[in-house]
Amino acid sequence: MPLPEAFDYAVPDGMEVRPGDHVHAPLGPRSARGVVWSVAHDDGSRNLKPLDGLIGGAPLAEGNLAFIDWASKYLVQLPGNVLRAMLRGEDALRPSPVETVYRPSGEEPTRLTEARQRVLDAADLLGEASAADLAREAGVSSGVVSGLVKAGGLVAEERPADPPFADPDPEGEGLALTELQADAAATLRRLVRAGGFQSALLDGVTGSGKTEVYFEAIAEALRTHSDGQILVLLPEIALTQAIMARFKERFGAEPAEWHSGLNPKQRRRVWREINEGRARIVVGARSALFLPFRKLSLVVVDEEHDPTYKQGEGLTYQARDLAVARAKIDGATVILASATPSLESLANARAGRYVHIRLPARIGAAVLPDISTIDLRETPAEAGRWLSPPMVEAMAETFERGEQTLLYLNRRGYAPLVLCRACGHRFQSPDTDTPLVEHRYTGRLVCHLTGFSMPKPDTCPDCGAKDSLTSVGPGVERVAEEAKALFPQAVVEIFSSDISGGGEALRDLIARMERSEIDILVGTQIAAKGHNFPNLTLVGVVDADLGLAGGDPRAGERTYQTLVQVAGRAGRADRKGRAILQTHDPDHDAIAALVAGDRDRFLDVESQAREMLGLPPYGRLASIVVSAESEDKVIAAAAELARTAPRADGVEIWGPAEPRYGVLRGRWRRRLLVRADKSVDISAYLASWKARVKIPASVRVVMDVDPYSFV
Ligand SMILES: [Zn+2]
Repeated sequence: MPLPEAFDYAVPDGMEVRPGDHVHAPLGPRSARGVVWSVAHDDGSRNLKPLDGLIGGAPLAEGNLAFIDWASKYLVQLPGNVLRAMLRGEDALRPSPVETVYRPSGEEPTRLTEARQRVLDAADLLGEASAADLAREAGVSSGVVSGLVKAGGLVAEERPADPPFADPDPEGEGLALTELQADAAATLRRLVRAGGFQSALLDGVTGSGKTEVYFEAIAEALRTHSDGQILVLLPEIALTQAIMARFKERFGAEPAEWHSGLNPKQRRRVWREINEGRARIVVGARSALFLPFRKLSLVVVDEEHDPTYKQGEGLTYQARDLAVARAKIDGATVILASATPSLESLANARAGRYVHIRLPARIGAAVLPDISTIDLRETPAEAGRWLSPPMVEAMAETFERGEQTLLYLNRRGYAPLVLCRACGHRFQSPDTDTPLVEHRYTGRLVCHLTGFSMPKPDTCPDCGAKDSLTSVGPGVERVAEEAKALFPQAVVEIFSSDISGGGEALRDLIARMERSEIDILVGTQIAAKGHNFPNLTLVGVVDADLGLAGGDPRAGERTYQTLVQVAGRAGRADRKGRAILQTHDPDHDAIAALVAGDRDRFLDVESQAREMLGLPPYGRLASIVVSAESEDKVIAAAAELARTAPRADGVEIWGPAEPRYGVLRGRWRRRLLVRADKSVDISAYLASWKARVKIPASVRVVMDVDPYSFV
C-alpha cells in the first residue's frame, strides 16, 4: 500500500518471524498482506496489535529489502509502491500445485473399445497430458480416460504443475572464440571469480560476438558461486526469442524467462523458483529487476544504451541504473554490453569506475554503411512532402534491385521543428539552444525544457523572408503514405510500438521483413533492435535535425545509436548497406562526425554540449509533471510548486512549462524540470520539496528521477 513507512505489530506467542517473511496483519477493519521488515524486542507497553499469521514460503532475501529501501529513496517513491513491484499473488509462496498427467503404458488394455482407441491415439499424440486435454482431443468424456487407467492402457502420474527449471551446465560447449573474444572473456571471468561488486562495460561493435563473451562470464558465475543467481536483462525480449535458443545451446537448459508475454501460471512458476533460489539464470525485460532473487552473483544488461530500459509510467525507473545498484547491494559483478554505449556508461568507464573492455570489428565483418547527407536547403522535398528527390531516387534504385529500404523517423510522436525555408534559420530557445516546438492550438512556439514561449511570427527574424517559415515534423504514418504514393507497387509497412495488434503484430512484421515480403518499412526506434534483415540495404533518415535537437537532451545520442544499430542490420559483408540523412544543417558537428563514421568525435561533441549545459551524465535531471482535471487547478498547483522549491546550491528549476501534450487523457498538464550538479543528492532534494508543498488531493504530482521522456 502507498504508506510512507512500516507499521509495528506484536508477534503472537508461538509464532516466529524473520525479516522478509510474508504475513497477514490487521489494518483497520481488515487483514492485509505484508512483509516483515525488521524484528525488534519490545517491553509490551505499546499495546501493539498482533500479526494475523504467516503466509509461508521463503522469506524475501535480505538483499531485496535493502534494494527496496534504496530504490524508494532514490526514486522518491513510497516504499510500499516499490515493494508491490516485487510481490506476486500468495499462490507463488505456496508449493507448486500437483496435477495428474497420463501417458500410454505401452500395454494393451483389457478391453479396447473405439472410444478407448481414440484416447490412446490422443495420448500417443500429446505425450503427457491431463485427463481433460486427452478427453478433448479424443472427443470423449473424461470417464473413458479413468476407465483406461483401470484397464491398464494408461498410467497416471502426479507431477508439479510448476516444475523447477533444469540446472544449467557451465561446461556446455560454446562457439569457438576469436583471440579478441577470448581476451575479453578472460577479463570478465577474472572479475566474476574475484567476487564482490565490480562493473564492466563490454563495448563491442555489432557482430563482434558480445553474447558469446558474456556467456563465458555466466559459466564462470555458475562454477564459482554455487548459490548465486544470474540476471540477464534484454530490451524487447518478447520480440527477440532467438537469444533463448542460444542460451539453451550453451547451457543445456532453458533459462527462466520474464516478460510481459507470460501468463499468470508462468509468472507464478518463475517467481517461486527465483524466490526459493532454484532458478539459476533468469533472462528478462526491465521488470525482472524486481524479482525476488536470493543472491545475485552476476547481472548482465545487454544493449545497455536502449531507451526502453526506462520505465516511464507508474513506478518510473531506469533499469540499467537500478541493475547496477542491485548488483552493488548483492556484491555481484555487473556487465553492461553495447555496440553503442550510453554517454552515462562511457563517462563511468573513462573515469575508471567501470572496467572498459573493447571488442573491435572482426576482419571482413560488415561495419557502418556508407553514410551521406542530403542538404534539404538545396534539394528540398516538395511542399507537404518529406522525402527529397535524391532520397526518392535511392529508394527507387533499391526497390528495382529487389532490396529493402528502412525509413527511420527518430520520433514516434508529432514533434515539429520550425525553420526558415529560405535561409535555414531555426527557432531556438534563448536559454538552452533547443528548438522551439510549434503548438498549433495556441499559435505559439514553446521551449519544452524551460517554458519559454513566443507567438509564431510571419517573417523570418534572420533573413526577413515573408511566409518562409515551415514546420517540419512528419509522423511515421504520414511518411508511409508518401512512400505508398511514390511506389504504388511496393509493400509499405509502418513499424512503431503503438501499432495496433501489439507485440504479436510486431513479431509478424519482423518475420515478414526477414523474408523480404516488405519493400519499404517506415519505423521508429523499435525497428532498429536486434533484428537481422539481410536484404535491407538502404536506411533513410527522414529528419536528422529532429533527432539531433529535440526537447530531449539524449536525442542526438539516440539518433547516433540507432543509426549504428540499423546499419548493423543493413547489408552483408558482400553487399554493404548505405545510410542517407536528410538535413538542413549538414555542417552540424554531430552530423559531420556521423558521416565520417567517427564515433569518438561524435561522442566528444555530444559530451561537450551536455557538459556545458550541466545535463546527464555531467549533471542530474528530474522532471515533475503536475496534472489536474482543470487548467486553473494545474496552473495554481504548478505555481505553488515553483514557489516552494527549496533553495540549494547547484540546483536550477526550469518551468513550469507547458509540455508537448498540454492535455493528456483528459488531464491538463504542466512540467517543471530540476537540473542539479552531479554532487547534489537530487532525490533528497525532491523529497524535502515534496514534504513542504501542499497540493490539493485532486492534483497529481509525478516526480521522475532521471527522466527520458520530455513530452
Ligand atoms: Zn530566413
